[in-house]
Amino acid sequence: MRDLSQTSSAEALNGGLFSDPLATSALLDVRTRLAHALQTTLDTGELLSLFFRYSRQLVDYNGLSYESESCGKFKLGHRAVHRCLYNMTLPDADLGSVTFFRKTRFSDDEQKSLETLLASLAFPLRNAQQYRQAMQMALVDPLTRVGNRAAMEKALEREHQLLQRNGKPFALLMVDIDHFKQVNDRFGHGCGDQVIAKVAKTIEQVSRSTDMTFRYGGEEFALLLSATGAAGALITAERLRRAIEKLKIRHADTAIAPTASIGVSACVDPAEPLTALVERADRALYSAKRAGRNRSCCEAPAHTLKAVTQ
Ligand code: GH3
Ligand code: MG
Ligand code: MG
Repeated sequence: MRDLSQTSSAEALNGGLFSDPLATSALLDVRTRLAHALQTTLDTGELLSLFFRYSRQLVDYNGLSYESESCGKFKLGHRAVHRCLYNMTLPDADLGSVTFFRKTRFSDDEQKSLETLLASLAFPLRNAQQYRQAMQMALVDPLTRVGNRAAMEKALEREHQLLQRNGKPFALLMVDIDHFKQVNDRFGHGCGDQVIAKVAKTIEQVSRSTDMTFRYGGEEFALLLSATGAAGALITAERLRRAIEKLKIRHADTAIAPTASIGVSACVDPAEPLTALVERADRALYSAKRAGRNRSCCEAPAHTLKAVTQ
């Protein structure tokens, strides 16, 4: 295992890296072209593909793997018995590790070439990491850490495309905390925030790992259920409603016990626009409110019946 922080590109450029000037010039040529190519993208996968393509013009190896806490794992080419691992760090960022694989051992010169090229990858990788973090932050609600409305719209689009391609239905739950204004009025806005955060956490705990939770607005959430029809969605809605009903949020010497009303709609027709699905879930939510709150209500498409449960 070698640590890239021990190497520097200046060493490669100035110090007569190889005794053969042709080898040094080939390395610098690839390094320059690689550096230009790496400026063209902020996508980690694309950066690694470019690196794989350019570095193999200089060192013939079989495969490369990359692993980092924030980006996950990437594999290019094939694994082989000999490996060379580099931990990539910058003073302000841990960039993960790169492993090169080959059937035969890497020579010292080959390792030096790879280290020099890796130095060109460090800043583009850091930029890609920061870009991805910024994009993620733009889709997260800061109070609850669940997706925001923009994230919800993206996810709805994705599910709609899956329905159009594979015929898989999906469902939408609109969850609205009952009489929430009274919580703010009686216990203050900070306490209201705590209730919102706790309800968001409960939605995440009750839902499956494939379901997606979003904060739709103030005290309103949306839960998107993949591969689920109306009947399954109504069961989930009831499970969630009961879980919220059991909450006790301590504030001074009071225990706040929120309830929520839930509107359910399912999308089974690929021709139905997403706006119609959201409007149906909204209407179902208001039916649940009108029917007395703390209940789930499902509005089926157009002609079919309405179900109310408690
Ligand atoms: P209903 O049962 O009909 O849903 O009544 P409600 O009181 O829950 O609904 P209403 O729309 O009248 O009030 C929602 C309140 O939520 C008003 C608003 O001040 C509050 N709210 C919106 N966003 C936040 C937030 O981020 N934090 C806190 N604490 N309150 C918020
Ligand atoms: Mg409300
Ligand atoms: Mg509301």
